[in-house]
This record gives sequence, structure tokens and C-alpha cells, in this order.
Amino acid sequence: MKLCILYVEDNANDQLILKHSLENNLPIDFDLTIASTGKEGLNEVEKKKFDLILLDYMLPAMSGIEFLNELQKRKIQTPIIFVTSKGSEKIAVEAMKLGVIDYIVKDEISSNRLIESIREIITKSSLPDEVDMETAKQIAKLFAESSIMHIDVVETLNSAPKSQIPVEKLVSALKRMVEVGILKANPSRSVVACPSCGSLTASLRLQCPECGDDQLKKGESLEHLTCGNVDFESKFKRGEDVLVCPKCEKKLKMIGVDYRRIKSWYKCSHNHFFGQPVVGFNCCFCKKDFTSEDAMLEMLQEYQLTEKGSDILRLGLLGTGMTKRPEKRLN
Ligand SMILES: [Zn+2]
Ligand SMILES: [Zn+2]
Ligand SMILES: [Zn+2]
Repeated sequence: MKLCILYVEDNANDQLILKHSLENNLPIDFDLTIASTGKEGLNEVEKKKFDLILLDYMLPAMSGIEFLNELQKRKIQTPIIFVTSKGSEKIAVEAMKLGVIDYIVKDEISSNRLIESIREIITKSSLPDEVDMETAKQIAKLFAESSIMHIDVVETLNSAPKSQIPVEKLVSALKRMVEVGILKANPSRSVVACPSCGSLTASLRLQCPECGDDQLKKGESLEHLTCGNVDFESKFKRGEDVLVCPKCEKKLKMIGVDYRRIKSWYKCSHNHFFGQPVVGFNCCFCKKDFTSEDAMLEMLQEYQLTEKGSDILRLGLLGTGMTKRPEKRLN
């Protein structure tokens, strides 16, 4: 991301001061266009889209206020910082009414105050409207810890001390940030969502197909072919190598002849035996049960910052200690 900034200023000295201040203090790449008159400024604005306009009030021919009126006529909504001389706060107030976001006095051109203002304005205008600054900062913190955010075990994420945001809010913020190009998302896998409340916290529930009981046991099982009895192998064991059917009390003779081995089978507390339990779910959030037919599917995503996203993070979302200007990129 390269910030496009327009500075409408007739004073060559001030032009230089601003340029140096931006070069030294702004943590991302930028492209500064300078216009010496309001007319020149309007020309630039018609030629290309800027991320920010710095506008001096005391301009020859066309004043800053007149310039603002011209921008309004053209329906240009670029964020503007107004630059006034000391003691002209009244004009600044007038400018604010014309949509100016912030104003500084001339002495502050090289100040941190201006840099902070630029950072805040660009960050806010880059974020989707629905994502507030606080949520964005929390998300930035998570990305500072790991470059990939995996919304998977939702409860883990919920209970992590780092993320104070409710998961639903976090996920919708992440989705919006994907839409505006701050993040990119890759599908990771689909999971079951509760059809009643949408929660992803459902746990698997296994039931007896005959009676619906969900207190099941599972084990290696045998079928006594002579009488048709099926039970866990342990129920047949009578000492070393001796198998006796617990139903008809006959001794089992030879595998494949009078009995067979069934792999793992399930048994409910009403003694029904079956190979495939009915798979259902229980929502840990609203506590409702639902079947796999009723279950909704949700695709989980992995989120990563785009280059633009990292720039915005550096610019305005992380603490100042992490916002050093990176080494100049070679391109
Ligand atoms: Zn049963
Ligand atoms: Zn038997
Ligand atoms: Zn639910």
C-alpha cells in the first residue's frame, strides 16, 4: 500500500518541512503530491484519487475554504486536514463544518500531532464502517502474535485472555476485513453448526438406533451362530481359552462354524447390539439436540494479513513501539 497524499500549500519552506516530517515519521510508503495553488490542487484531485489532503488556509487567489467548497461541488470525499495560522480557530471551525476531519496550526506541520492525526485518519478510513477501532486493535494484537488466525476451536479462542471480543463479533469483523482487502481468507474445513443458534460448539451424540438411548458401550463382540446371541467377547470368557455363550450356556467350538467374531459393536443400556449408532449432535451453547440431517455446515477459514493489512496495522493499530518504518522496499 502506498499512501497518496496531496498537500495544497504555496509556501516552499512549509512544503519541505512536511515532506521531511512524513519521510521520517510515517511508518509506511507514501507518495506526496504538492500543489501551490487551489487551482493546481483541484487539477490533481480530478486526475487521481488521494487518501488524504492537507490543505493550507492561506492560499493565493483561492482560499482554503473556497477550495473546500469546490471539493464539495465535485463530491470528493477524501479526508482533509486543515492547516491554519495561529489564532484562526474560527476559520478552523468553519472548515470542520465543510467536512474537514482535523486541523492543525502551521507550527505543528513537523509535529507528532500531525503524524498521529494522519495515522488515525488513514486507519479509520481503511477499516470497514462496521469494524470499530477497539475490535480492530484486538484483531491486530492477535495477528502480532501469529501471522495466521485459525478460527477453529471456537471455545479456545473465546477463553484465550488475548481476545476480549465475542467470537460472533470477531468472525463478522474478520469477514468484513476480507471484503476490503485487509485480510485474505482460505477455507480450512467445514464444521457442524447448530440449526437453532448457529453455534459451532456442538458435540457429537451417539444413540441406539432402536431405542434412542445414548449411554453406549463399545467392544470386541462375538455372535453365537447356534442361538443368534451377540454380546461382548468378555461376556463369553470363562477362564483361559474357554468361551461359553452367556445366553444358552453352550460352549463355543470353532470360529467360523458355530460362532463368529464381529469387530467393535455398540451396546446400549437396554442391551440392544448394533454396529452403527445414530449420529446426532448436542449444542453446547443452547443445549438443543439435532440430527445430522438438520445440522448446518459452516466453512472454517484461516485468516492472513494482506500487504495492505500489515501496512494498516503498522500505521495505526499497534503500539508505537512496533511501528518503525520498514527498510525501503526494493521496487
Ligand atoms: Zn437401545
Ligand atoms: Zn448361545
Ligand atoms: Zn444451539
